[in-house]
Amino acid sequence: MRDDFDVQWHELAEEVLTGMKEWRLQHAKATLGEIERALDERLGRVRARLLQDLALASAMADIQAAQDQERPVCPKCGSVLESRGQHQRQLTTHHNHALKLERSYGECPTCGAGFFPPG
Ligand SMILES: [Zn+2]
Repeated sequence: MRDDFDVQWHELAEEVLTGMKEWRLQHAKATLGEIERALDERLGRVRARLLQDLALASAMADIQAAQDQERPVCPKCGSVLESRGQHQRQLTTHHNHALKLERSYGECPTCGAGFFPPG
């Protein structure tokens, strides 16, 4: 479990707050809808980053570290998945912000199916 995953959050939040103020000064006649879109776009960036960092901090993301009885099982045949190391998983969240997650990748020893366990 990493405990330093929040180190860049303050910096990122600062960037958004400053950026939003500058945007407002440059768009003196912006409508409420335009302001809301600009704000959502920036908050979406923070949201994606927090989501990514929080997900990476999850102890459950590591199959190897999990106890045997907690290990994810194959949804097809129920066998306990074997760890196949870390693979990068790409997801897309709100406002099309990409998440890149390093997740444990499991493979079923019985039927050969490969999975990113949920969590
Ligand atoms: Zn299987």
